[in-house]
Amino acid sequence: AHLDRIAAVDGAVHAFLHVDTDGALAAAKDIDQRRAAGEDLHVLAGVPIAVKDVMATKGLPTTAGSKILEGWVPPYDATLVSKLKAAGMPILGKTNMDEFAMGSSTEHSAYGPSRNPWDLERIPGGSGGGSSAAVAAFEAPLAIGTDTGGSIRQPAAVTGTVGTKPTYGGVSRYGLIALASSLDQAGPCTRTVLDAALLHSVIGGHDPMDSTSIDAPVPPVLEAARRADVKGMRIGVVKELGGEGYQAGVRQRFEESVQLLVDAGAEVVEVSCPHFEYALAAYYLILPSEASSNLAKFDAMRYGLRVLPEGVDDPSAEQVMAATREAGFGDEVKRRIILGTYALSSGYYDAYYGQAQKVRTLISRDFAAAFEKVDVLVSPTAPTTAFKIGEKLEDPMAMYLNDIATIPANLAGVPGMSLPSGLAPEDGLPTGIQILAPATKDERLYGVGAALE
Ligand code: GLN
Repeated sequence: AHLDRIAAVDGAVHAFLHVDTDGALAAAKDIDQRRAAGEDLHVLAGVPIAVKDVMATKGLPTTAGSKILEGWVPPYDATLVSKLKAAGMPILGKTNMDEFAMGSSTEHSAYGPSRNPWDLERIPGGSGGGSSAAVAAFEAPLAIGTDTGGSIRQPAAVTGTVGTKPTYGGVSRYGLIALASSLDQAGPCTRTVLDAALLHSVIGGHDPMDSTSIDAPVPPVLEAARRADVKGMRIGVVKELGGEGYQAGVRQRFEESVQLLVDAGAEVVEVSCPHFEYALAAYYLILPSEASSNLAKFDAMRYGLRVLPEGVDDPSAEQVMAATREAGFGDEVKRRIILGTYALSSGYYDAYYGQAQKVRTLISRDFAAAFEKVDVLVSPTAPTTAFKIGEKLEDPMAMYLNDIATIPANLAGVPGMSLPSGLAPEDGLPTGIQILAPATKDERLYGVGAALE
């Protein structure tokens, strides 16, 4: 049914970069047979899933939305993908994304943008817009995204779906093509909180292949989602997120969601996180710095594309590398590599990268202080509803501002979830509320999220 749906609508939505019809059908048939034979299967066995094209999938093309990886077929599965397969979940295919997960709209994909199923002239968010669009368009019941600064949560908000960024280290990054290693985290894109909890339980947990993986069991997310209880919980509204610069309908729906939490028995207070206002600036120094280092491996020798410089008879390795990176990387990727190498260069390192790391510590302390007073924090997920394709493409700062509310969580490593808070009255498009919890307390997102649903 989902493959049929993909065939019917993906020409318009363009959520997928690659659909694995044969592989998905074979996996589904295998589950049918095992079920018929009486095997005790996982509750998600046979439920198909779409995977963001930034996760390595053995035998399936993996491009990270970049021309530089065109034609690359990984010889191994990311740990997360192995876990999906072990649970018996057929993989429908790979979803579209901004190149190397840099962006908030999927317009930076080298393979053309995805479109928002609510309005095909609008963006589905990014970088993981393909995953959220696939779920919103009923092309997939579940999908995998990755969130470095909001790429699971912001697409969820603008497509009316649920997106969870687990605690940093809660889901293995082995086989996730790194953007910024200290910020990247994979997680579920779903239509309900309970679906997210089920998927989180499948993909979470310790992985010896990832040195930053937390050596602890998956938090009790399923139990919390089933309990759906906020009675007596203390919920903090972040004073610095949601004021000026946020669309009126986004604010209105957010306030209504907060009222629902009050009605359900939660105690709501305002909490100040004074350093959040510097999060965007710190992020756009730390992320490019890490990205410039991570992307150095695309050297025309190891993976994918190799371009020979024109008019050079006997090109050096350096010339081949330069020609390949010039042809293979898009503008946004080049912009960030230049920013990152500059921020890391001797003479500027302390002033930029070093300073940003100090701000990062201050943001973590803001969270720590807030979580002494409240169990979770809430804010609107994104400042606006889905904008029009092309509207912000020429203005990187306007694009970056989309992540103003989601970035602090990545800098501090804390978990976050976005869930639908209703349609904005002025444009009829989805809005999202973001819930943030202390590190390793992911279950709180699910308790509050399920209570709101
Ligand atoms: N939009 C943000 C950026 O461009 C976040 C991306 C992400 O989470 N991968 O960096």
